[in-house]
Amino acid sequence: QKFVYDFTEGNKDLKDLLGGKGANLAEMTNLGLPVPPGFTITTEACKVYLESGSEPSALRDEVSAHLDALETKMGKKLGQADDPLLVSVRSGAKFSMPGMMDTVLNIGLSDASVAGLAAQAGDERFAWDSYRRLIQMFGKTVLGVDGDLFEEALENAKQAKGVRTDVDLDAADLRTLVDEFKAVVAKEAGRDFPQDPREQMDLAVRAVFDSWNGERAKLYRRQERIPGDLGTAVNICSMVFGNLGPDSGTGVAFTRDPASGQQGVYGDYLQNAQGEDVVAGIRNTVPLADLAGIDQPSYDELMRIMETLENHYKDLCDIEFTIERGKLWMLQTRVGKRTAAAAFRIATQLVDQGLIDEAEALQRVNGAQLAQLMFPRFDVSAKAELLGRGIAASPGAAVGKAVFDSYTAVKWSRSGEKVILIRRETNPDDLNGMIAAEGILTSRGGKTSHAAVVARGMGKTCVCGAEDLEVDTKRRCLTAPGGVVIEEGDVISVDGSTGKVYVGEVPVVPSPVVEYFEGRMHAGADDADELVKAVHRVMAYADRVRRLRVRANADNAEDAARARRFGAQGIGLCRTEHMFLGERREMVERLILADTDAVRDEALKALLPLQQRDFVDLFESMDGLPVTVRLLDPPLHEFLPDITDLSVRVALAESRKEPHENDLRLLQAVHRLHEQNPMLGLRGVRLGLVIPGLFTMQVRAIAEAAAERLAAGGDPRAEIMIPLVGTVQELELVREEADKVITDVEAEHGVELKLAIGTMIELPRAALTAGQIAEAAQFFSFGTNDLTQTVWGFSRDDVEASFFTAYLEKGIFGVSPFETIDRDGVGSLVALAAKAGRATRPDLKLGVCGEHGGDPESVHFFHEVGLDYVSCSPFRIPVARLEAGRAAS
Ligand code: ADP
Ligand code: MG
Ligand code: MG
Repeated sequence: QKFVYDFTEGNKDLKDLLGGKGANLAEMTNLGLPVPPGFTITTEACKVYLESGSEPSALRDEVSAHLDALETKMGKKLGQADDPLLVSVRSGAKFSMPGMMDTVLNIGLSDASVAGLAAQAGDERFAWDSYRRLIQMFGKTVLGVDGDLFEEALENAKQAKGVRTDVDLDAADLRTLVDEFKAVVAKEAGRDFPQDPREQMDLAVRAVFDSWNGERAKLYRRQERIPGDLGTAVNICSMVFGNLGPDSGTGVAFTRDPASGQQGVYGDYLQNAQGEDVVAGIRNTVPLADLAGIDQPSYDELMRIMETLENHYKDLCDIEFTIERGKLWMLQTRVGKRTAAAAFRIATQLVDQGLIDEAEALQRVNGAQLAQLMFPRFDVSAKAELLGRGIAASPGAAVGKAVFDSYTAVKWSRSGEKVILIRRETNPDDLNGMIAAEGILTSRGGKTSHAAVVARGMGKTCVCGAEDLEVDTKRRCLTAPGGVVIEEGDVISVDGSTGKVYVGEVPVVPSPVVEYFEGRMHAGADDADELVKAVHRVMAYADRVRRLRVRANADNAEDAARARRFGAQGIGLCRTEHMFLGERREMVERLILADTDAVRDEALKALLPLQQRDFVDLFESMDGLPVTVRLLDPPLHEFLPDITDLSVRVALAESRKEPHENDLRLLQAVHRLHEQNPMLGLRGVRLGLVIPGLFTMQVRAIAEAAAERLAAGGDPRAEIMIPLVGTVQELELVREEADKVITDVEAEHGVELKLAIGTMIELPRAALTAGQIAEAAQFFSFGTNDLTQTVWGFSRDDVEASFFTAYLEKGIFGVSPFETIDRDGVGSLVALAAKAGRATRPDLKLGVCGEHGGDPESVHFFHEVGLDYVSCSPFRIPVARLEAGRAAS
């Protein structure tokens, strides 16, 4: 097994082995781009280390061989006293994890070689600056010294000299600083800074391996659902120097705007700087376009390279580069993260440029991004007090209470507050707070700052670099130029699409994408929003290729109509219990309390016409499309008053000697119906079988409504769905009665209704006996919410708040099984039932109506197991359509 690859040996498809950074460095090397030579230690070596606690035995010799080759190529040896070869040791996992893993620059410098470096560069200041950076990074990331101690020493040095930035420190200052840094290391790490270059390198490699299991890295992986066992590769890359004076510098760039997708020159550049200076917001960067004025030839070459990269990767790329005395070097590239809007726009732009086809375009976007684009935006016409403005780093409209540290952000959000995290700049320690916040506001840093990159990745609203706003994290306040002060707890509104920040709560308006789905904005119009045009094209393609149909969960005509506008091809779940609430509750009470058949029939008779009206409206708004109506499902006590309220009322009335006949009967009923586990109690089909007339009333209402629509020239396509069936006998009994009612109604009206009768599969027993159940069912609809509860044996209402966080933290599941279907458990029951059902009845219609129907990953699963449709809430319909298309293409 080979553990080390030279940059010339790899390519971009080897991300599993070489990590993203290493694979792309190799790809650029092979494209003939100027990449400093180096080699990559594989993720396999990391895995061996993580599993066994030590590096694979062959690694040392392999590294030596590659280092020898590198030294030969560069004509100098690592750390050689008179002319040292220096390298960076850089982490790079398969998935980019911004700021999560640590990189050490200038490895190879020591007391012995710092003078040699100075002599070679003809710049003493530079050599000492590089050395102090090495000790600082090494001390922090390899030896675990608190980074603030170095920052403080640096800050003190600047203050002592009365200068503002690190470039104003001269060689002598930096030399003193090196001594101080070394003292910090000795004191804090309990060992001296290692002087042997190879030891520096080996320790740094090991530190990169170890950082895979750092807390921040683990948190990020859980967030992004990255598996924990991939390991990271390590890149050893010969150093180039951006800190060699004003003709040197370092920068980051995008081949197009990651916020809008627009082509152009996007990026930041910092003269006389090294490594992360540009993203750390230490000094103010200049826009990339200014590089043309600073160093035209390098700028031109960079533009050429960016074009090459875009054409090669056929996608937006982001880039890290360094200019060393007028020579451009490429240090990193990858297919860049982008906002949701940019994803759609770039995908269609690339189709227009002929770089990708439509099928590929569909893979370049996803349902989560579409969902993001459907969020409302601020109403700009509303009178809003502008607090300040920064860079629109990640779109969205966020309103919340100002907090100035991550801890408070997490604490407040746990207690249900919406918060905006305000920081001067963020760093990886802020990750928890960023996750908890509605939005993020920073006063420093550009589009490529930590805050911006991470927020975009998480789909969080972010405004960064609002330089006019003075953030005081100690006093927990923010001061605007006009003197307005925002204290912790004050509400502010942050617009990540424009970069504007407002005092107080600004009202929001629907997004143009929703306006488009609503039919209030047309993609064909000349002045249509570019984004709307892009979404329209991608959706059209998804609709053309998808096999899964998409229905809505809707109980009223209004929702049904919206669902239809959003592209629903029917209703997959109409919950009839919603029709039993409000003023009708009283009738339901009467039904529940009935002690004679006559009273019960009376109550049912009163409900019948009301139900019928509801169905007529619903069938009308879904004319020509299937409407699945589920018969009453929840436990009856849900329709009765709360037991405590009622007890109090009865007790009060008793003490006041007021009449309370009715309440007393109610209370008795509540007690009678009280269940320890209502979820597993008298509900669903069980209700239909023990409360005479209930289901037949509902079936009659459906049948009568269908007859009425037929008479009106409509095309009603009702499907009657029996909930919580566990055995075919239950279904047969209900069917027998239902069929009788339907035949009656057909006879009375002289019509043929073509009503389908089917069942939900939401109990493990139903899934396991699906072959039998299909004898009596014309369709199955998987109720994956209940199925998840019953398969796992936990009740959603109880467990999500109590132990799910712990489970997620422990990695027992990467995501709640209520959010994304548990393929291995719940999913295999779905697959099994689908297969058994179809074996009995080849034309059995199969759908899903749990909330998973609108979850991107679950949609792919339902496509794979061959369901006919998914049903989800109206607002998720576009997401389901898109993901169904992606699953099929
Ligand atoms: P990250 O994954 O955090 O981006 P990198 O490995 O890319 O970490 O390195 C951090 C910074 O150091 C980047 O700005 C990168 O461009 C710079 N850098 C890395 N290696 C070298 C090198 N050999 N010469 C000059 N700069 C380097
Ligand atoms: Mg980093
Ligand atoms: Mg980088």
